Amino acid sequence: MSEQAKALSEQLFYTKKTVYEAAPQVVADAMAFAGPYMQYLDAGKTERECVVTSIQMAEAAGFTPYRFGDALKPSDRRYYNNRGKNLFLFTVGTEDINEGIRISAAHIDSPRLDLKQCPLYEDNGMAFLKTHYYGGVKKYQWVTIPLALHGVVIKADGTTVEIVIGEDDNDPVFYINDILPHLGAAQSRQPLGEAIPGEKLNILIGSQPYEETDAATPIKLNLMKILNEKYGIVEADFLSAELTVVPAYKARDIGFDRSLIGAYGHDDRVCAYPALKAIMDEADSKHTLLCILADKEETGSDGNTGMQCSLMCDLIDEITRARGGNVNVVRANSKCLSADVSAAFDPNFADVFEKRNTALLNCGVVLTKYTGSRGKGGTSDASAEYVGWVRGCMARAGVIWQAGELGKVDAGGGGTVAKYIANQNIDVVDLGVPVIAMHAPYEVISKVDLYEAYRAFAAFNRD
Ligand code: MN
Ligand code: MN
Repeated sequence: MSEQAKALSEQLFYTKKTVYEAAPQVVADAMAFAGPYMQYLDAGKTERECVVTSIQMAEAAGFTPYRFGDALKPSDRRYYNNRGKNLFLFTVGTEDINEGIRISAAHIDSPRLDLKQCPLYEDNGMAFLKTHYYGGVKKYQWVTIPLALHGVVIKADGTTVEIVIGEDDNDPVFYINDILPHLGAAQSRQPLGEAIPGEKLNILIGSQPYEETDAATPIKLNLMKILNEKYGIVEADFLSAELTVVPAYKARDIGFDRSLIGAYGHDDRVCAYPALKAIMDEADSKHTLLCILADKEETGSDGNTGMQCSLMCDLIDEITRARGGNVNVVRANSKCLSADVSAAFDPNFADVFEKRNTALLNCGVVLTKYTGSRGKGGTSDASAEYVGWVRGCMARAGVIWQAGELGKVDAGGGGTVAKYIANQNIDVVDLGVPVIAMHAPYEVISKVDLYEAYRAFAAFNRD
């Protein structure tokens, strides 16, 4: 290629570059940023645990609890804990509230197996817990891996018992059985999605009988005795419990070069953590900033801890009133990044991706103009004007970002919280980290992409 053609190509073509090529000066910071993120992952495998960890971080950064009706002044740092599962953090800006609010919205629930309300049973010398999977899981991925139990039990007297078993190296872990390959001929001929049906995702929890073996279910009795001694609970207490089974793995570096992170629940803590860090790190902001860590995204954002709840609007209303603004003006002028992950192009499964329009690993945060499936069904589709503004914002801060959609047009699809926020007359676009093997018990992301997410949220808050 002639020098002239080369120069012209550089001037006219859109080519994705990796962070290593485009911003080598941030790589060391990106590697350092990953360590605390991995601790955040290990400390929070459920939305409840993420709320607790996030509040600890926020309080250390000067955030205090907010109650509806509180007076607010510029530079105030406040948080609102919604039912222990959904967290709102905001800082009051120095400018007129009618200029709008900068919102970053991530979610902290992840696909997993929830215990049913009557989970415990004994069958042929083993005891199990029945589950109902939560979110989009490939069920075959959850058998024969070490599992941990997390959650809360509310006893009849109203007291709360918190349970985490399987994370400490001295803890037992739990397990889901599968057929040995020697007898798996019929199973292996079934479609992947049907080989392990939901009702076979039963958690193996014990096999030792109570000493009087003439009891009808001696193993179940022995297990209830252990649970009663350790937690003071009886079987009926499962009725008012939220217990969930998650992979017992910890976050680890992946690869000889340690450039990647393997963990459970990157979707969407890989966006929640940098969004949280970005609001915490922005002192005396001009804009009023709001960071939302939502629950129930994986099941459609319904319910009073999901983004379809009126709480976000109630809070915007309260903040607006406290600052003497007009809530309709504030919402019309607000801007939002729906901070959620997208799929990273995977050369092993190239056929489901359209490479020109899929996020590439290491090429920075991915901006997804629209989500949805079957002809953009169920998407908010950000306006070209708003995407243009975000593009300028990223360029001014030197953030490495890329455009990308989930996969091939007819291969499937997905959604985020973006549309629920857009429905409130707020400009929104999805921006997040590309993930390999999204929704698997162990997902993979790139450290430089994580760091660009942090730089993107910080740039958005500041611009
Ligand atoms: Mn997500
Ligand atoms: Mn998801």
